[in-house]
Amino acid sequence: MDNSRKSSVKTATHRKKINVKLPNKRISEYYAENVFTESTMKKYLSEDAFYSIQNAISAGKKIDRNTADQVAAAMKSWAMEKGAKSYTHWFQPLTGSTAEKHDTFFVPSMDGEGMETFTGSELIQQEPDASSFPNGGIRQTFEARGYTAWDPTSPAFIMEIGDGITLCIPTIFISYTGESLDHKAPLLKSCHFLEKAALPVVNLFDRHVTKVHSTLGWEQEYFVVDEALFYARPDLVLSGRTLIGHAPARGQQLDDHYFGAIPERVYDFMLDFEREAHKLGIPVRTRHNEVAPSQFELAPMYEEMNVAVDHNQLIMDVLERVGKRHKLAVLMHEKPFQGVNGSGKHNNWSLSTDTGKNLLSPGKTPKTNLMFLTFFVNVIKAVNEYSDLLRAAIATASNDHRLGANEAPPAIISVFIGSHLSSVLEEVAKRVDHGRYDEDKNGSLKLDIHNKIPDVLLDNTDRNRTSPFAFTGNKFEVRAVGSTANCAWPMTVLNTIMANQLTDFKKEVDKLIKGGEKKEGAILRVIRRYINASQNILFEGDNYSDEWAQEAEKRGLSNVKTTAYALDFLNTKKAKDVFIKNNIFSDVELEARSEIFYEAYTMKLQIEARTIGEMALNEILPVAITYQNNLIANARGLKDLGLKKGSYQSQLNLIERISSHIQVIENDVAEMIEARKKANKLEGASEMAKAYCDDVKPYFDTIRYNCDKLELIVDDKLWPIPKYRELLFLR
Ligand code: ADP
Ligand code: MG
Repeated sequence: MDNSRKSSVKTATHRKKINVKLPNKRISEYYAENVFTESTMKKYLSEDAFYSIQNAISAGKKIDRNTADQVAAAMKSWAMEKGAKSYTHWFQPLTGSTAEKHDTFFVPSMDGEGMETFTGSELIQQEPDASSFPNGGIRQTFEARGYTAWDPTSPAFIMEIGDGITLCIPTIFISYTGESLDHKAPLLKSCHFLEKAALPVVNLFDRHVTKVHSTLGWEQEYFVVDEALFYARPDLVLSGRTLIGHAPARGQQLDDHYFGAIPERVYDFMLDFEREAHKLGIPVRTRHNEVAPSQFELAPMYEEMNVAVDHNQLIMDVLERVGKRHKLAVLMHEKPFQGVNGSGKHNNWSLSTDTGKNLLSPGKTPKTNLMFLTFFVNVIKAVNEYSDLLRAAIATASNDHRLGANEAPPAIISVFIGSHLSSVLEEVAKRVDHGRYDEDKNGSLKLDIHNKIPDVLLDNTDRNRTSPFAFTGNKFEVRAVGSTANCAWPMTVLNTIMANQLTDFKKEVDKLIKGGEKKEGAILRVIRRYINASQNILFEGDNYSDEWAQEAEKRGLSNVKTTAYALDFLNTKKAKDVFIKNNIFSDVELEARSEIFYEAYTMKLQIEARTIGEMALNEILPVAITYQNNLIANARGLKDLGLKKGSYQSQLNLIERISSHIQVIENDVAEMIEARKKANKLEGASEMAKAYCDDVKPYFDTIRYNCDKLELIVDDKLWPIPKYRELLFLR
């Protein structure tokens, strides 16, 4: 009998080595060769045009038509020299992936000829037929127009897919009436807001700084499985995760995969995608095995926020495409396999100045330390105020499997800062309590903290892996972000709440100064108040423990485990205030967004429900029945031979057990379908998401449990879908 599991296992185990032809060059020789970088731009543009575009970018000014025409012409020449025949606006709609619509440079003319053109207006704006992107009701179908608009702060690049070479122009995506329909437009607004809010605060300490920007260094975790095995699992293909499958006898309990030697087949794949990434100017540096078998991680050098976000979206694409070359399916899902670790995407976030200073890096002198403390404490205060909003920003159906499971940060947001900084904060709060801000002869503050903070850099050992939001020496690391996420959304929230916080801080300090207080005293007084007000969010212990859940409840911290409820935070007055007041979203945009996220949640669960139902009824039950028939025939035969019942009692037991599992599965699939029908009739995206969460999803567990029990009983030769041991351990 040809069973797709057996043949796919055979295919997977007999793969020939795929040779990657790596260029015999240093990385620096081809790094960013497919990017329209500043230096490339300089080569292709007149001096005037070059400076006018650079000025427009750095000042955030509108680019005039003439300059746009020249940039377009330059991009076209460069791209065509590289073999590009078409171009596309590249954008990030709220589907979670990227979108493109290609147009050729070539424009045919009536006389049967034609020529390659690319104008400034084509560069600046396009109108993709965008009616089927999620819009949360912003675009009525009669006004289905959506526009993509060039984002000159993220460089254009060339995408090579097979023989197709395309110029890609990063854009934002907005409706005809100007509402944002993507992840990028709000991110850019939040970056701008943060730049504006942080600068006056930096200038309290350092007048030379003229610009501040946020930085992001993401770490991307993923699994790989052989393509043949992937296609033999409808659940992986349709939902990105295994909906059934019993844990293998050996999982990750030996901890031997973490940082282990990378298997050769995966290593080849890594070299290949790293080369692609480097050509695209993505500064990938780190690769290693992760905790679970077949799980890996890659991380680049951090970059300015906007570009880092684009690069993460791009690398997810590149991983999938290069994976295909190697007959590997790359699983980006947060929890592809039950019982083994899931995947996250740590977002390392900091603030940086145009003078090259990291504002979250403790300094060497008391004065720079005060600047560090100011930014550090403001982050903590912002997270303390808006932890629920951060929770909402990492909420997806797939990340629900991670948050709260015992190997990922919990759904409770807290901040870890380490023992050194905890004692520094304690000391600051205490000292200033006395109302004295002693200055020594040189005018610097006698806070003694300068002796302590640099230790943090030296002793970074008490890093708490269980924290969802941890300070790691010179940056905060948001660990609760899911591996499939577009970083833009959690980073938009973090930028916004930080900027909002810094704005308040500056106002309070100014008020004290106006009242006659010295600058540093005023700063310290406000910081002290913030430290005292933010105690609830600070937690140094084990975030996975039950004690923490209880303690957090006492502290009044939210512990919302599912997306269907976490998204409700977006509709609170507090969320609306911080977003709308600061022009990150309009009321309509924010409502549309939460609606889209509820819908995405419901749709994911709907697909999973259908898939698990089909697999259970069409794949698992038939083999269970076949095996049961074998047992029946066997028992009958033994009986016919005149043997005592005792000699075929085991067969009878198994027959009964199989029957009971079959009954539960059949019954629960039917009930699940009913629950779905009921949920589908509900009005309102939020209500529907909650019904799917509370009434439909619980069936996944009982159906799975019974299928997995059958996997342990049924003849291995009959089992139709690849088992965990085959998915996770084949190389
Ligand atoms: P881990 O042990 O968590 O893997 P690493 O020290 O390897 O941490 O760094 C993780 C990420 O942090 C890298 O992507 C790195 O670029 C990023 N990172 C370092 N400094 C900054 C910064 N100032 N801003 C943003 N990200 C940073
Ligand atoms: Mg990390």
